[in-house]
Amino acid sequence: MALQPGEGEGRPAVPLETSRLGSADITRPVAGALALMVVGLVWLTLPRLDPALRRNVTYAALGLAGLAGSLGCLVGARRLAGAERLAWACIGGVVGLNAGGTLVAGVQRSTATDGTDASAIMNLSSAVGLPLALTASASLMSVYLRGGRLRIALDALLVAAGAFYIAWLAGLGQLASGAQVHTAGDQVQLLLGPVADIAYLLIVVSLALHAARRERRALTLLALGIAYATGGDMGAAYVQLGTTDIVPLPFDALWLAAYVLVGAAGLAATPASRTARPHARAAERNGLLPSFVVAAAAAAAAIALAVGHTIDEPLLWDTTFMVLLLAARQAISLHENFILTADLERRSDELRSSELQYRGLLENNSDVIAVIDAVGIVSYMSESVRGMLDREPSEFRGLALADLVHAEDKATVEARLGGFAGRHSQQAPLEFRLQHSDGDWHDIEAVPNNLLDDTSVNGIVLSARDVSDRREYEDQLRHQALHDPLTGLANRALLRERLEHSLTRCARNGESVAVLFIDLDDFKVINDNHGHGVGDVLLRSVATRIRGVLRAMDTAARLGGDEFAILLEGGVDDHTAALVAQRVLDAIDKPVGVGDVEIQVAASIGVSIGNAADTADNLLRMADVAMYRVKAAGKRDFSIFHASMDLLAIARLQFEVDIEEAMREDQLVVHYQPLIDLGSGSILGTEALVRWQHPSRGLLPPSEFIELAEETGQIIDIGRCVLLTSCRQTERWRAELDLPELTVAVNISSRHFRGADLLADVTRTLEETRLPAECLVLEVTESALLDDLHESRRQMMAIKKLGVRFALDDFGTGYSSLGYLRELPVDILKIDRSFVTDLGKGERPSEFIRAITTLARSLELHTVAEGIEQARQLRLLRTLGVDSAQGFFFARPCDADAVEAVLRRRSLSVGPSGAEVRVTTGARKTRVEESAEAVPAERES
Ligand code: C2E
Ligand code: MG
Ligand code: MG
Repeated sequence: MALQPGEGEGRPAVPLETSRLGSADITRPVAGALALMVVGLVWLTLPRLDPALRRNVTYAALGLAGLAGSLGCLVGARRLAGAERLAWACIGGVVGLNAGGTLVAGVQRSTATDGTDASAIMNLSSAVGLPLALTASASLMSVYLRGGRLRIALDALLVAAGAFYIAWLAGLGQLASGAQVHTAGDQVQLLLGPVADIAYLLIVVSLALHAARRERRALTLLALGIAYATGGDMGAAYVQLGTTDIVPLPFDALWLAAYVLVGAAGLAATPASRTARPHARAAERNGLLPSFVVAAAAAAAAIALAVGHTIDEPLLWDTTFMVLLLAARQAISLHENFILTADLERRSDELRSSELQYRGLLENNSDVIAVIDAVGIVSYMSESVRGMLDREPSEFRGLALADLVHAEDKATVEARLGGFAGRHSQQAPLEFRLQHSDGDWHDIEAVPNNLLDDTSVNGIVLSARDVSDRREYEDQLRHQALHDPLTGLANRALLRERLEHSLTRCARNGESVAVLFIDLDDFKVINDNHGHGVGDVLLRSVATRIRGVLRAMDTAARLGGDEFAILLEGGVDDHTAALVAQRVLDAIDKPVGVGDVEIQVAASIGVSIGNAADTADNLLRMADVAMYRVKAAGKRDFSIFHASMDLLAIARLQFEVDIEEAMREDQLVVHYQPLIDLGSGSILGTEALVRWQHPSRGLLPPSEFIELAEETGQIIDIGRCVLLTSCRQTERWRAELDLPELTVAVNISSRHFRGADLLADVTRTLEETRLPAECLVLEVTESALLDDLHESRRQMMAIKKLGVRFALDDFGTGYSSLGYLRELPVDILKIDRSFVTDLGKGERPSEFIRAITTLARSLELHTVAEGIEQARQLRLLRTLGVDSAQGFFFARPCDADAVEAVLRRRSLSVGPSGAEVRVTTGARKTRVEESAEAVPAERES
């Protein structure tokens, strides 16, 4: 058997076997005792039995039963400790003395022939047993009625005195007065025995009444035992007061049962539980017992007086004794009350100060503490709600929390509180909005603690704080992460996210979405010419205009730079998408005023329309492809993506791969076209012109690939390649053919010119090839230079420091203003072929060329005419004062070997008449034959 709760260490545990009696019901010992009593009764009343035999056997049986009972108590006491052990040992002692006395008295009586009074030995055993009995009762009381021992002792005495009073009136007094007692000892033995028994019985019964259930069995058996003994004692007292002889009486059978029951009680005794305090009411009941007994004594006295009895001296003494006991008890009670009140006051002070402390903690906490009851009503709201929402706690108390929060949060709050009522204790914070006194809704985060089961709280405690600032900050962060800081439009990530969601919705409702890809036309020029500040103003204005023509449900995004995009949702077809695209074009296509400047903006838009079968990436790419088509077709328009456009895009992709391979496999070759000095007729140098020796398509001219390479950015690598090849070639010719002044002109793309690497590329090439910088001319077009005049100048100055010269290619085609020529450090003007071709067709071309040569001379620039095909053109150009020329008339561009052959021969046949252009260096120059008229046949290899 496991230890019962409350059975502490240090106390002997009760083993299963021995405690069985204690824990089993009491019927077995009671039945056994009854059976023994009946047997005894039969024996004691058997007729015609030899009196000596009956007496001897009876006393032997009584003695043995008493010893057994005593042994039971002593064995029980061994298993106990402290006061309990003492109590049961004393009970065992009393029973043992009684049994021993009976045995000895019986032996004395049977052996004595002279009728000796055997009661002396009995009186002796009673006298010795009395202090033991008192010790036993005091110990039992101290065990079962903890504390107030003095009062317990007084109570016990009161009970005894009251019991004596009743017993005396009930007849004991009469017996005593008429008794022919032999000795005072006998009187005491016979009279006090029952009185002590009754007192003892009352004490044990009162203990049993409020002992713990487990402990009650031993006390009940003891009480029963004492009850039998009382019966025996009473009977003996009545019968024996008139005689001195000790003879077995039928009442002695009761003693047999009493011994057995007391022994069983001793065996059943268990350690009293120390935690199980006597119940307050039981203690009260117990405290009332002496009063009952005294009241019963008073009632008995009243009845006795009413029927004419007198209150004789012993009763008066007993009354005095009881009054004294009551007075003492009252004094003790007063003292106890005083201590109790003082203790109570101290405790309530403590309680009050701890409550104040808690209240202080609650009120000074920046968090608001609220208690919500099981049905969601606010039962408590801390004062700190004033600081948080500028509202009074009373405004919340008694109202349902769900009714106080923002309407949109009501359902969530109800669901969560409902969950708590179902005894779920989710620790996740509750989030809702509460209204500030100024009308604003504040974000509140409340950490719940389910104390519905805690009787002192009986609610859900919410520790709430205002997280509005944090929310706002989080919202800002989220906004920043998903929006373009310049325009406030959605960024690429948010557009993608929305597009993906939209496509998911399409899968449900079968609708279509449209993506508009918007790219501003020539934004870079604006940015470069007016600065980034102006560019930003322009982008913001474009963003506002785009947003202005959209519905609230559409998404406008800035993807970066001058690229914007629009997502149209809710069932879009070609027609609606085209309408929106046109509206956007119209909105953008208006001048933007920045300061005093008005800047004209325009855009190209590509549109793609898709449904659930498409992916976000694919739709964006298709819109991009469509937009490129618009750019290629002249910008300022929109175009809806069509599958055929994809082919273009694929071709472009393929081109990139091919050109990459071309560079790797040396498929790019450089052809050279001689440049002729019109004054001397000698070859000044060549222009390097790139060709692509395509494996399947043959030799491709630059027009087939330069523009695409410019778009893809590969033009820069091509440029580097041509630069290196032509410089190396020219240096070889210079050295091997003794042509120290031979020059080479290399075309530089806008992209390469505007990039950061040109200076480094040129420097490295010159170092690597050892070509003198003076022999290198870089040809750039007006458009490359004029994008950012300032930057172009800086770039040119840096490169010119090396000694390299610059030629302005295709001059005359782009811009009408010539003012910039003064700004830029250009050395050579290459008059565009179109003017040469038009020579002789009216006055204008020759006037233009004359103006150029005049300007050039004033700026000390060298002039070159491009595309001379006829001798007539040559003559005219000469008269117009052009310095040099190149064209099919002299030579088509041809490969290095062909050019080398010319340079080796140092002569070049020109025109049908075969006039010679001599290749000379320095002073040795040959004049071109004036008679040369026709264009020579293509001599490209
Ligand atoms: P460009 O720099 O103006 O080169 C002159 C173009 O005129 C060359 O065309 C040349 O073959 C052609 N040409 C010369 N004389 C005559 C003539 O009498 N009649 C006619 N009809 N045409 C003549 P090409 O080689 O096809 O080059 C075209 C353009 O491609 C070049 O114009 C240049 O802008 C560009 N280009 C050529 N090679 C390169 C290069 O390596 N890098 C860069 N970035 N561009 C290059
Ligand atoms: Mg050129
Ligand atoms: Mg040109």
